[in-house]
Order: sequence, then structure tokens, then C-alpha cells
Amino acid sequence: MIKDKNILITGAAGFLGSHLCKTLSKQNNIVAVDNLYTGRLENIKDLLVNKKITFVKHDVTEKLDLENLDLIFNFACPASPPRYQADPIYTTKTSVFGAINMLDLAKKTGARILQASTSEVYGDPQIHPQTENYRGSVNPIGIRSCYDEGKRCAESLFFDYRRMYNIDIKIVRIFNTYGPNMDPNDGRVVSNFITQALQNTPITMYGNGNQTRSFCYVDDLIHGILKMMESSSDFIGPVNLGNPIEFDLLDLAKIIIELTNSKSKIIYQNLPSDDPSRRKPDISLAKEKLNWEPKIDLKTGLEKTIKYFEKVLKNESSNCSRRKVSCISFGPSA
Ligand code: NAD
Ligand code: UDP
Repeated sequence: MIKDKNILITGAAGFLGSHLCKTLSKQNNIVAVDNLYTGRLENIKDLLVNKKITFVKHDVTEKLDLENLDLIFNFACPASPPRYQADPIYTTKTSVFGAINMLDLAKKTGARILQASTSEVYGDPQIHPQTENYRGSVNPIGIRSCYDEGKRCAESLFFDYRRMYNIDIKIVRIFNTYGPNMDPNDGRVVSNFITQALQNTPITMYGNGNQTRSFCYVDDLIHGILKMMESSSDFIGPVNLGNPIEFDLLDLAKIIIELTNSKSKIIYQNLPSDDPSRRKPDISLAKEKLNWEPKIDLKTGLEKTIKYFEKVLKNESSNCSRRKVSCISFGPSA
């Protein structure tokens, strides 16, 4: 268990960062850094009454000078495709300059640093399931490349800082994760489908819905990330963290419609370019080195997530006289 440490979390007000803050602030001192680009202060505002957590509004593309750090979790970066494609140059800067600035801080303070990398380093994968030694199939000039190549470059920087300065690094490649604290307007598939189903508006299916993803509930993922951070210094990764059970999107939509008892119908829209057709992690390495595997099945995780979105939509509608939360969607006919 991570205890009595001074910890920096970047991207702290986002979906995953806020869960890290919640878990780690119980027994550690946290500096929670975010520029609120896609994150929301309400995700961590209840935690801020705790004197062990300090919020710093800061853009990681700029240098950050702090002392006395034991651990750094580098999570700052928009993760939803419409959000990271909204300003792709800024997305690349966040991954690349953000990595350099946080690695410099690790070098100065001697902190161990963990990078939130992604299954997107595999692009539209040609092997299935994806293992860590697969080098990927990324279109370097496509609309997703700001994110994919930014994250690939960040991994490269982590390894170069280790080779040059012996920095204590860890890299996790996170696969699609969902759960409470996702932004209902985020534009990712789970938040879009649940929000649409709860509002009885059409479910926006991009393409024919045969593409697959493997969805991991956030508590399982956070558990894996903490195990990685605590693992011995000779295991640096990259290691896949995700749920290896694969679903196609039509199945996902059907389960969500059923769990919400929704009247929503599926409408089909154009598939965005470079959208990966299949994705499923091989988690043998995480099982072997971290003794980790996900425990929460999709239905159970979705039930918890639906409860969260019901609460968010209720607050939204009472705040805005029943204004509907509009989902971000994209693609030419969206
Ligand atoms: P998110 O968008 O909810 O959180 C990202 C946070 O980073 C936000 O709070 C945002 O305001 C902050 N941020 C963005 N740019 C910043 C900048 N320049 N300076 C400071 N803060 C900045 O996304 P998330 O799902 O919580 O993802 C967190 C991290 O995990 C990201 O690095 C993402 O690439 C990685 N990841 C997430 C998933 C997933 O399924 N959730 C999958 C793979 C990788
Ligand atoms: N998607 C969809 N409808 C939506 C949002 C997303 O059909 O309203 C699809 C998207 O095209 C992709 C999958 O769902 O095939 C997962 O998308 P998401 O943005 O959640 O994450 P990705 O894995 O693509 O980064």
C-alpha cells in the first residue's frame, strides 16, 4: 500500500486522475495538477477539504517547479477522440512537452514516475489480442495521430530519460476504461450511450457497430495502476492494463438499453477515419508481474456507471430547467 508519500498527480481533475486522488489522498500528501482542459473540479472538490491534497491549476506544457516528491502519476492529456482532435497540436504538445516537464521534475526530485500510456500506441492493430511487444499500426498522418504519436513519443522519452539519467520510470498502456466521474459530454462511447439511453434519445452508432472494444471498470484499472507503481524497480513496463473480455458495440448498446430500460433506438452514423476495428489486451504480463487481473464484469460496472450518470443528469436538469445534456458526437453525418 502506498502510504506517507508526497505525490504529484497530473490530470487530477479528469476521470482517472480524480479516482487516483480519491484513493491516494487517504494516506498521502497530494499535489493535484490540472488546467481543467477536459477535467472538472467537481470531480475532486469534496476531496479538497482534506488538508492532504492541494489543487494547482497548471498547464503541463509549461515547466513546473516542485520539491520533495516521491511519486509522479502523469495523467494529463485529453483522452476522448473528439476532445483530443479538437486541438490536435495542443494534444501533441501536452503529451510531449508534458512528458519532458514531468521527467525533468522526476530527475530533479528523484521521484518515481508513472506514465499513462494507451492501447492507441497499437493504432488499428493487425494482431489480436495485443501484446506489449507488438509495435503497432498507427497512421502517422491521420486524425488520431496527435494522440497516438504523442503517446508513442512520450514512451520514447521515458525510456531515453531512463537510459540517460537512470530515472525510475513505469509505463502502463491503458485500454478503454469507464466508470463514475466520466464527463457526460466527453464523447466516448460509454458516456454517450448511457447518456442517450437515460434520456431516451437515439444511440449514435458510428459505423455498423461490429467494431470491438474491451471495457475495464475504473476500480479494477486503478488497482492495476497502483500495483504497477509499487512494483519492483526492475519492472518498468510497458504493461497492458485492461479487461480482456471483448464486446462489439452493438452488444454494448443492447446491454445499456436493457439496463436503463430505455426506449432509445440505434441510429447509424459514419465511422470516423482510422477508427480501430478490434481491440483487446493480452494481459499475461500484468498477471505474471503484478498478479493483477480485472474482477468486475461489464454488467456490474455499467450498473454502477449508470447510477452515476442518473445523478449527474438529475443535477443538470434541476440546474438548467430540464436542459438535456448533449453528447459530443463526430463524423460527417453527426
Ligand atoms: P480526462 O480527459 O478525463 O482527463 C485528462 C485530464 O488531463 C483532464 O482533467 C484535463 O483537464 C487534464 N489536462 C489535459 N491537458 C492538460 C494540460 N496541458 N495541462 C494540465 N492538465 C491537462 O481523461 P482520462 O480518461 O481521465 O485519461 C487520463 C489519462 O489516461 C490520459 O493521459 C489518457 O491518455 C490516459 N488513458 C485513458 C484511457 C481511458 O480509457 N480512460 C485509456 C488510455 C489512456
Ligand atoms: N462510438 C460510437 N458512438 C459514439 C461514440 C463512439 O459508435 O457515440 C464508437 C467509436 O467510433 C469507436 C468506439 O465507439 O469505434 C469507441 O470509441 P471511444 O471514443 O469510446 O474510444 P476509442 O477506443 O475509439 O478511443
